[in-house]
Order: sequence, then structure tokens, then C-alpha cells
Amino acid sequence: MDQVRTILQSHPHWPAVEAIYHKLAQEGYKAFLAGGCVRDALLGLKANDLDIATNATPDKIEELFEKTINVGKSFGVMRVVLGGADIEVATFRNDGNYKDGRRPDHVEFSTPEEDAKRRDFTVNALFYDMQNHQILDFVHGQEDLKKQVLRTVGEAKKRFQEDHLRLLRGARFAAQLDFAVESGTLAAMTEMAAAVKTVSGERLRDEMGKLLKSKNVPLGLRVMQDTGLQRELFPWKTPDVNWTAYPGCEIWQNLSLFLRSAGHSDLEKSIELLRLSTKERRGIEDAWELWQKPGDFLALRLGLQLQQMQKPGKTWALEVLMKEGLFEEAILRLLNEARSFGDELPKPFLTGEDLKGKLQGPAIGQCLQEAYCLQLEKSLKDRKQALSWLDSFLKKVN
Ligand code: ATP
Ligand code: MG
Repeated sequence: MDQVRTILQSHPHWPAVEAIYHKLAQEGYKAFLAGGCVRDALLGLKANDLDIATNATPDKIEELFEKTINVGKSFGVMRVVLGGADIEVATFRNDGNYKDGRRPDHVEFSTPEEDAKRRDFTVNALFYDMQNHQILDFVHGQEDLKKQVLRTVGEAKKRFQEDHLRLLRGARFAAQLDFAVESGTLAAMTEMAAAVKTVSGERLRDEMGKLLKSKNVPLGLRVMQDTGLQRELFPWKTPDVNWTAYPGCEIWQNLSLFLRSAGHSDLEKSIELLRLSTKERRGIEDAWELWQKPGDFLALRLGLQLQQMQKPGKTWALEVLMKEGLFEEAILRLLNEARSFGDELPKPFLTGEDLKGKLQGPAIGQCLQEAYCLQLEKSLKDRKQALSWLDSFLKKVN
């Protein structure tokens, strides 16, 4: 238990959590750390967030703390802002009826045991009692942690029927924890797989994003494949035999790798399905396009390549190719060339003003593009050189 305590106490939000705990305890309330942070600490891992579960109601939490955020008062979820941190403080609850496979129509505030039982997987349903530094385990979660098994709390099929998002969370946690999915849980996921289509795009995106940056991505993808989740969401996809991890990547970067083998219309459908932002969508499309025909990109003149590389998706696609050992020399040269300009490409020496009354229509853009390419290729060193290049250019075309 000492190790768990040390890990939890080393979290930057620990002082805030301790202050919240003391306040609640002083007023006679229970306060436990709950869910992912307890699971991760037991696995010897640093937790993302420290979440608190308590028997104080949201109204009481609002009353006791100076600054709170109402995340979902009717569902018992508040956040307390304290000491630069913003901590989830949720009231022990059990969920009422699930009508739409998404969320309960109401919740009832209840006991720690009931709160553990409404959670998705046993390893996610543990509490850490901050008073006597003990684990509270109502669902044999510690056993499953030891066995490295992902199992639903209670009857698997019912739990997936209640909330279809849990289907994809199953694959995500298998990948994240590198755990096998228990056979009953896997069978229920398979039986229920089609229901994953009712999950909102934003939630699919978040879970897929987490899955694709997990410890064992191939395992998560295999679970998706074996249960039929992949067929339901990405029917075009063939199994990823090898998955190369690029740690520290953004979601769109990992998604671009996942979507790399899609045809164009499947790519667009998947982007729609996952409700990606414009920035994410652009990044993925730009990378995808380059991966389709890297030779075409590499055959462009340097000035055009450098301009294209202002798009994050293009640079990302090149970095991936290079890491795969493809076109290494050419790409390295390009990346170095791009870096020689610092964070941004320089402003063009010439602008539309310089061409006023001298050229018409599309010729203006073509001339400026040519001048800018020559500038980026370092054939034109300053504005003076650019202006004299323009003189001879105009003589040629007029
Ligand atoms: P992570 O490290 O990704 O944050 P986590 O376990 O904290 O993992 P969250 O999605 O942050 O996962 O959820 C926090 C906790 O809330 C979970 O551990 C689980 O107990 C519970 N939970 C979250 N989503 C659901 C759900 N859809 N159904 C049941 N319980 C859930
Ligand atoms: Mg969490």
C-alpha cells in the first residue's frame, strides 16, 4: 500500500485533493479517490487525474467550497477549483434506467458500494480511502488487476446494453492496460457490437484517440476486430498487422495512421463518423494525400514543397515516411531546408502591389508564385534582386 500512497501523493494535484478531503471529513463526509487513479496507482503507474467520490451532495459541495463548477449537478458531478487545480468531486450514486443506450434518465445518490457497481469495469471500480490509506474493493477489482483481466462489473450484456460507449471503452482499456478481455465480457461485446453505431461521433473520436495512443494498440485493434466493433465502425479496414507507435502524438496524427489505408470515400466517411474538427480533418487529409503518392510530392520543386510543408499534415506524413526508412535522404534534406527558415517561412519579397498595372488575371498569381519559389530556393536573396528579376520577367512575357 505504501507504493500506492507514494504514487498518489506525488501527483501535482495531491495538495488540492488533500485539502478537499480534509474539508469534507471535517464536515463528517466520506471522500475517496475513485476510478482510474486508483487502478493506475495499483499498477505502479502515474495517474492522469485524481477524482474524488463522496457522500456529500452537489449542493453541499457548492456550499462548502469557494469555487465550484457545475459539470452535471443532476448526475452528481461537480468540480472543485482549488490551489490551481480543478478536481472532479462526484457524489456516490447509482444510475436509474438507461433508456437510449447512452446515459441514465436520472441518478440516485447512494453508497460507495452502489457507486462501484454502476462503474464499467471491475478494475475501474476501486476506491482509495484517504483516511486510513486502504483500498475499498466491492467488485474483486484487485483480483482482476493481478490477473490482468478486463471484466465488466456485473452482467456483461446488460452493462453494454445500458451504455453502448462501454463497448469501445472495452477495446480501449484492453489496449491501454495491455489486459486480456475476460471471455464473458468479450462474448457480450461481440453480441452487442452493432450497438456501437449509436455512440456519438465525439465520443467515438475520444475513445479511438485514447486507444491509438495506448501501450498495446495492436491488442485494442484485435479486440475491435474480433468483436466486430471494427466491422461496424470502419468496415473497409483490413487488420493492422504492425502498429508503430509514435509517442506523444496528437489524436489526429494517430488517427491519420489508422485511416492511412482507407480509399478516398472511406476516409471521408470515417472523418464524418468521428466528427473531427477542421484542423484534425485537414491534418489527416493532407497526410493521407501525401502517403498515396509520395513520389509526386518529392518531384515538386523545392519552393512548392516548402510551402506545402507549412501544413502540419504534410510535415507529419514526411516524418512518418522517414521513420519507416522511406525516401530518408530526400526527406531529411527537405526537413533541414524547412528548418533553415525557423518557425515560419519568410514574407515574399514581391506582392501584388509590385505588379499593379503590369499583369492581368491569373498571370499575377503565377508571377508571384514563381518569385516566391525562387526566394525560398534562395535564388533571389533580397527585394532588390526580386525587383530586377521582375523587370526581366515582364520583358519576357509582354
Ligand atoms: P483514464 O486514464 O483514461 O482517464 P479512467 O478510468 O479515469 O481512465 P474515465 O473515462 O476518465 O476513465 O472515467 C473515470 C471513471 O468513471 C472510470 O474509471 C469508471 O469508473 C467510470 N466511468 C467512466 N465512463 C463510464 C461509463 N461509460 N460507464 C460506467 N462507468 C464509467
Ligand atoms: Mg480519467
